[in-house]
Amino acid sequence: MKKEYKHFETAAIHAGYDTKKHLGSLSAPIYQTSTFTFDTAEQGEARFAGTEEGYIYSRLGNPTVQALEEKVAVLEGAEDCAAFASGMGAVSAVLIELTKTHDHILCSLGVYGCTFDLLVLLKEKYAIDYDFSPMETEEQIRNSIRPETTCIFVETPINPTMRVIDLEMVARVAKEHGIPVVVDNTFPSPYLQSPLALGCDIALHSATKYIGGHGDVVAGLVAGKSSFISAIKKNGLKDIGSIIAPFDAWLLLRGLKTLPIRMDRHSENAIKINEQLKKHPRVKNVYFPWNEENAGHEAAIKQMKQPGGVISFELQEGGKQEAQAFLNKLQLIKIAVSLGDVETLISHPASMTHAVIPEKERRAMGVTDQLIRLSVGLESWEDIWADIEQALNG
Ligand SMILES: *Cc1c(COP(=O)(O)O)cnc(C)c1O
Repeated sequence: MKKEYKHFETAAIHAGYDTKKHLGSLSAPIYQTSTFTFDTAEQGEARFAGTEEGYIYSRLGNPTVQALEEKVAVLEGAEDCAAFASGMGAVSAVLIELTKTHDHILCSLGVYGCTFDLLVLLKEKYAIDYDFSPMETEEQIRNSIRPETTCIFVETPINPTMRVIDLEMVARVAKEHGIPVVVDNTFPSPYLQSPLALGCDIALHSATKYIGGHGDVVAGLVAGKSSFISAIKKNGLKDIGSIIAPFDAWLLLRGLKTLPIRMDRHSENAIKINEQLKKHPRVKNVYFPWNEENAGHEAAIKQMKQPGGVISFELQEGGKQEAQAFLNKLQLIKIAVSLGDVETLISHPASMTHAVIPEKERRAMGVTDQLIRLSVGLESWEDIWADIEQALNG
């Protein structure tokens, strides 16, 4: 974080935006414009040549979007940041920037369903290979690195089994080989986990989740070194074009102001629900970073400020039908994919987010038919639990 901000909470509210530059407007204005006018033809020439700073066209830069990027760069402790139309826009821009034909991506075993699909697409169309590693030990990582590995991609905690990977360890091994480490930091958000401070190179987000926080926007963010961010802005944004709209950037600016207090409450509520789930006779295998038996528990305590709001668990008996019957009995909790919203959401990964992954690989990732994923919201935890309990007992 920049020196002028000692605390995350303050930076989340003030960083990246100066009211004095915007007629005193407390809230950042939404610059809803496609293009920017030049005073003279020569000024237009200078802007394109890069000899004069200033805006040209909203696919190349927009003041509302820039305010968001500057704020997130500060929050991730990064030199710069780029905002995208979706989390997948961010993931694809990063992977395309770091690879070319015949390169190799080493990916954590267990990854967001569409990231998995993208790896398959890159392999089929562009001969960019990939491998999955559990990344539990340095040895495991070293053994999977090839001469053509140009990117290590890590998701932690891993969706949906909440296994945690030690980011300091991954960064250490990657440094030996000079390979950049990309972290999908969506689940913890920048408030609970700082990949760059742990030695990783790039942090990316589906801002759709905790950063937006209110279930009303789809967006993505990438934070890292200025040289890297300039490169993905040129390719991923300027030429491929998955730019964020000014209004969506504004929604994220608003969401970020309350990120710390929301994450604190999401975590507190999840800790309570986790305790109750572990005690219930119909429930087994509760996956939550703070549980001692959770894979990567020690790394979680070391690198995460709090556990976050996502819990997965299995029903003792039955498979898909029983899991679906349980979901159908819920009244307050909404059945939906996505996570990190103020509303508590519940999903069945095997038939929803992870349905695209072949069954064998899906099971290797721990996504069984009786696995249920819960994104604990900001309602009273007692009301959330009462709904889960009636559905389990009913
Ligand atoms: C949702 C999600 C994504 C994809 O983000 P979108 O905003 O939906 O495109 C990527 N990674 C993780 C971990 C996610 O949860």
